[in-house]
Amino acid sequence: WVDDARLVVLNARSAAAHGAAIQTHTRFVSARREGGEWAAALNGERGSRTVRASAIVNAAGPWVRQVLDEALKIKLPATVRLVKGSHIVVPRIHEERHAFILQNPDRRVIFMIPYERQFTLVGTTDVPVTRDDYRAKISRNEIDYLCEAASRYAEKPITPGMVVWSYSGVRPLYDDGSENPSAVTRDYHLLLDTGAEPNGAPVLSVFGGKITTYRKLAEQAMEKLSGRFPGKPGWTHTEPLPGGNLEGRSFRGLLLDYRRRHPHLPKVWLTRVLRRHGALAEEIIGDAREERELGSNFGGGLYEHELEYLVRNEWAHEAEDVLWRRTKCGLHMTTAEKTRVRAWLAEKA
Ligand SMILES: Cc1cc2nc3c(=O)[nH]c(=O)nc-3n(C[C@H](O)[C@H](O)[C@H](O)COP(=O)(O)OP(=O)(O)OC[C@H]3O[C@@H](n4cnc5c(N)ncnc54)[C@H](O)[C@@H]3O)c2cc1C
Repeated sequence: WVDDARLVVLNARSAAAHGAAIQTHTRFVSARREGGEWAAALNGERGSRTVRASAIVNAAGPWVRQVLDEALKIKLPATVRLVKGSHIVVPRIHEERHAFILQNPDRRVIFMIPYERQFTLVGTTDVPVTRDDYRAKISRNEIDYLCEAASRYAEKPITPGMVVWSYSGVRPLYDDGSENPSAVTRDYHLLLDTGAEPNGAPVLSVFGGKITTYRKLAEQAMEKLSGRFPGKPGWTHTEPLPGGNLEGRSFRGLLLDYRRRHPHLPKVWLTRVLRRHGALAEEIIGDAREERELGSNFGGGLYEHELEYLVRNEWAHEAEDVLWRRTKCGLHMTTAEKTRVRAWLAEKA
C-alpha cells in the first residue's frame, strides 16, 4: 500500500524544490479580479495578507463549492456529493503479505490490507453526509459494519474492542445524479471560469477524483491553464518524487546497502525509515553507527534526528503531523511516548 499522507508531503517538497512557496495552516479567505490578475486574501500563522496571482486552482476537495460560493462568489453548474469513508486498524488478521478484497452481502466490497507489520487496515464505509453534519470521525455503526464484514472471512471474529486506531475522511464525489453513494462516479471534472471580461484571470475548480490519478489530473489542470502558464508538455512521469531516485537500485537493494553500512542500527527501523524517506534517509541517518547516535529515542521507531528532519523539511508543527501523517509511529507508541513528542515540539515552537 501507499501511504497517502507521505505521497502528499513529498509532492509538496517537490513543488517547493521547483520554486513553490508552501504555506501550511493558511486559509484562502477571498479573492477578486484586478487588472487581469487575482488579488487573494490569505489568513495564516503570519497573519492576514494579500497576494497577487495569475490564476487560482480551487483544489479544496470537499470544500470546492464552499470556496466558489463564499470566497470567490462564483456560480458554476457543478456540485459534489459528500460521502464519508472510514477505516479501522486492528492487530494483524492474516500472516500473508497480500491484501484481500472482500465481497459483502450489500454488494459493496471492503479491503483488508497488511499494515505497519503488526496490523491490518480494514476499510472502507460509504456514508452520505452534508456540509453541516459532517465530522471526520468514525461512528459506532461504521466500526460495527467493518468488524462484521471482516469477520465473515477471518478465522476469528474481529470485534470493536480490537480497534487500535481509525481514521475517516470525506470523498467529494462529482455529482452525477446516482442514487447509490457507492455507484457515484469517482472520476474528476475540471471546470474553468475566466469571468465576464475577455482575458479575465482564470480559476480552475477540481470536482471529484482519486489520489491515484493526481498526477494526470495535475497535468490536465496545467494544460487548461496553459494560456497563463505556457510550459513544457507533461513531464511529471519521468520525475521521481524526493527520495525516489534510488540510482538504479530496487528498494530491496537500497535496504541491503543500508544494512551493510549500518550493521548496528535496528533492522526493522531501517526498513521503516527507508520506506518513509527513500534515498533521503541518508539525511536522517548520516554517519550514525549505533542507535544512541540517532538522538533521543521517542519510542515507536521515532528518534530525535527524524523528528528534527520532519520539522525542518516537511512542515511538521504538531504531534499529529508527526505521529499520524508524516509517519505512522503513533501506532507503535504508548500514551506517555506520544506526550513526549508533543512536549518536544511545543518546546521547539
Ligand atoms: C475514506 C476515503 C477513502 C479513499 N480511498 C481512496 C483510494 O483508495 N484511492 C484513491 O485514489 N483515492 C481515495 N480517496 C480519495 C482521495 O483521498 C482524494 O481524491 C484526495 O484526497 C483528493 O485530494 P485533494 O488535494 O484534491 O483534496 P483534499 O485531500 O480533500 O484536500 C483539500 C484541502 O483543501 C483545504 N482547504 C479547503 N478549503 C480551504 C481554504 N479556504 N483555504 C485553504 N485550504 C482549504 C483543506 O483543508 C484540505 O487540506 C479516498 C477518500 C476517502 C475520504
